Amino acid sequence: MSINQSGWRPEMSAANDGGSAPTFTGNKALMLEEPLLFEIGGDRTGVDLAEPPKVASRLGGLERNRPIGLPGLTEPETVRHYTRLSRQNYAIDLGLFPLGSCTMKHNPRLNEKIARLPGFADIHPLQPQDTVQGAYALIHLVGEWLVKLTGMKAVAMSPKAGAHGELCGLLAIRSALEARGDARRVILVPESAHGTNPATAAFCGYAVEDIPATAEGRVDLEALKARLGPDVAGVMITNPNTCGLFERDMIAICEAVHAAGGLVYCDGANFNAIVGRVRPGDLGIDAMHINLHKTFSTPHGGGGPGAGPVVFSEALAPFAPLPFVEKQDGQYLLVEEENAEEHHASTFGRMVAFHGQMGMFTRAASYMLSHGADGLRQVAEDAVLNANYVLRSLDDVLDAPFGPSGPCMHEALFSDEGLAEGFTTLDIAKGLIDEGYHPMTMYFPLVVHGSMLIEPTETESKAALDQFIGALRSLAEKAKAGDPALKAAPIHAPRRRLDETLAARKPVLVYKDPPVAEAAE
Ligand SMILES: *Cc1c(COP(=O)(O)O)cnc(C)c1O
Repeated sequence: MSINQSGWRPEMSAANDGGSAPTFTGNKALMLEEPLLFEIGGDRTGVDLAEPPKVASRLGGLERNRPIGLPGLTEPETVRHYTRLSRQNYAIDLGLFPLGSCTMKHNPRLNEKIARLPGFADIHPLQPQDTVQGAYALIHLVGEWLVKLTGMKAVAMSPKAGAHGELCGLLAIRSALEARGDARRVILVPESAHGTNPATAAFCGYAVEDIPATAEGRVDLEALKARLGPDVAGVMITNPNTCGLFERDMIAICEAVHAAGGLVYCDGANFNAIVGRVRPGDLGIDAMHINLHKTFSTPHGGGGPGAGPVVFSEALAPFAPLPFVEKQDGQYLLVEEENAEEHHASTFGRMVAFHGQMGMFTRAASYMLSHGADGLRQVAEDAVLNANYVLRSLDDVLDAPFGPSGPCMHEALFSDEGLAEGFTTLDIAKGLIDEGYHPMTMYFPLVVHGSMLIEPTETESKAALDQFIGALRSLAEKAKAGDPALKAAPIHAPRRRLDETLAARKPVLVYKDPPVAEAAE
């Protein structure tokens, strides 16, 4: 294999013609082709080290007998490699990111500035408590806002993502049931649930049973009531649900579950649609996680860790996990041990080593304080307005299965009904890549055939929405007309159609035959 200093290989020119005339280098204008680190790395280094003096080996027969295979690059080669790769990434800072259920909103730069203040960024979780009072005050403040916005009783700040919050909520539900000597074994989950819900319930040792959806895309209340009984520990319901619809029967659902002795977990990942307008505590919910990395604008999707605080009702608050930040006599205190006499005697324990994702808390606090209560309410209103604008702008070319029953919440749901024979949601998603967009969420929720779930969020302008709608309209028209060109999309991307299923099922995680090993032979 011939490799030159810049990593260019002759086959690149032909391998990546993108449907147009190939260039000598394989590059497309300023979008540079980039091989793997292992393909370009040699025995170069970023520093010149003197040959070490020979010493007698004390390893016996255990010396390495062939090169380790790590790619050696100079500093400029290393910088270019990663910079080139980073330019092939798509990000919310580049354009609209319509992934339904993910709330890919703009991450305000003010949040970043606050998170980098040394008093928040450069502290250690094991520092003496009196040296980090400001950080505890901030954790306490975010917790207070979450309790107030949700109308709940208590909050656990430590869960590190939505799915981790689900685990926290279900562990609290299990502890509450065990505390009353009630070994219920079944969790009910609607058909439209996010995959993490049944996965969490199964992980906690529960049997998972589906509740069907109505033709309107909401939980079938009568079917739910019919299934409730002494074996049902609780339900996990997303509201607004993954069809982008508000569960109007939520109060009746909670009353029925409580009457049957169960508890209600609400997946609050879609809180962005109702923040400042609906308090889940008023609906009767017992536990709900909040994705700070969705509703409260902390970066996610490869851009940073998440945070999934969980709010609890009065019934579940005693079982919430440690640690807690509490305010006592003007001082903030990190309560890390259960204390039989005083409080948290019933806690189910601890989920993480320290207190949670401090960097996410600072960003969320910055977002909350800069928006204020009225600003957060407007977030929900504008998110819903933008989603309905997308829904109504496209429901003449794409099938909107729940469109006729009224407005949506924060996301617009379309199906593949009416596309030409052989054309699928996948073709439209691939076409969006050529148009310069990350594809929408597809084939989820499962209750709709060939789902396309689009969540524009409130941070897109009308001009940005109009351009996206235009792109999607043109793709929908091609898919309905059976335009064979769409089947080849993406043609402008660095790589063409990949076998994503194979990549997910049989990922190749180890690079075989590094060229350095060949060269050494
Ligand atoms: C994002 C999401 C989750 C999971 O949240 P993570 O932070 O990714 O673990 C759960 N449910 C719904 C509906 C979601 O959109």
